[in-house]
Amino acid sequence: MTSLEEEIKKRGLKVTPQRSKILRRIRENPGSHFSADDIHKYVQIESPNIPPATVYNILKMFVEKGLINSFEINGKAIYEGKVDPHINFMCENCHNIYDYEMGKDLSEIENNVEGKIISTNVTIKGICKSCLKDLETSETSLMH
Ligand SMILES: [Zn+2]
Ligand SMILES: [Zn+2]
Repeated sequence: MTSLEEEIKKRGLKVTPQRSKILRRIRENPGSHFSADDIHKYVQIESPNIPPATVYNILKMFVEKGLINSFEINGKAIYEGKVDPHINFMCENCHNIYDYEMGKDLSEIENNVEGKIISTNVTIKGICKSCLKDLETSETSLMH
């Protein structure tokens, strides 16, 4: 049993080949952000008949058990292996999502509200570095 499969078991879930495959895909690409559709397509390579609902339920279960993180952006659920609090920056042009560390000490927020943080969901929309460059180049070429 791999360490990821042990994590599934430790959360009180049954280990199945599909579950470990999905968890491996997400957790072994910590900088990547997937839609349910991305994961469904990936699992379909080996299990062409798997219904999207099965994949969706596995993802939901993993999120509930804290094995993966999910957040919503533009009405779409995104899944990722990075479970520590961080900021997700999404480029409005290429739709890539980049992870950034939170600058603020979270215990400071807890002290301010005199409560406890359970989960965080911070998303920022913008234009990424390479798209900015492309936009600048196309603007300058328009001027000629
Ligand atoms: Zn971009
Ligand atoms: Zn992220």
